[in-house]
Amino acid sequence: MTDCLFCRIVAGEIPATVVIDEPELIAIRDVNPQAPTHVLVLPKEHIESAAELSAEHRDLWAAILAAAQHVAQADGIDRDGYRLVANIGRAGGQTVQHLHLHVLGGRQMTWPPG
Ligand code: AMP
Ligand code: ZN
Repeated sequence: MTDCLFCRIVAGEIPATVVIDEPELIAIRDVNPQAPTHVLVLPKEHIESAAELSAEHRDLWAAILAAAQHVAQADGIDRDGYRLVANIGRAGGQTVQHLHLHVLGGRQMTWPPG
């Protein structure tokens, strides 16, 4: 999808700080970080949100979770703990309509989120 920001990042048309590049997914540093570690793990395939995932995406979702774990380990936040977030739709606060899992850490996260 040429009008999708994250598809354009996947295609290399828009620069990003890529921390993981695998056949099915990439992980990039968020351009507006909300914590010392703020990385987005996203499939290369355009999937609108986590609400669109089905059984056929089981391996992809497992790979996204594994990538999130690797990011946490690489940034040294895995021992203290961190947060994984998938915003879905308007009320969920999703602003980019291409599935992405936020990896947030490096500070004490609070609850409830905004
Ligand atoms: P969400 O609100 O869950 O859809 O999250 C979208 C995230 O994408 C936000 O945290 C933005 O800061 C981030 N973002 C927007 N544009 C870029 C970009 N060009 N590179 C990296 N992250 C971005
Ligand atoms: Zn896309």
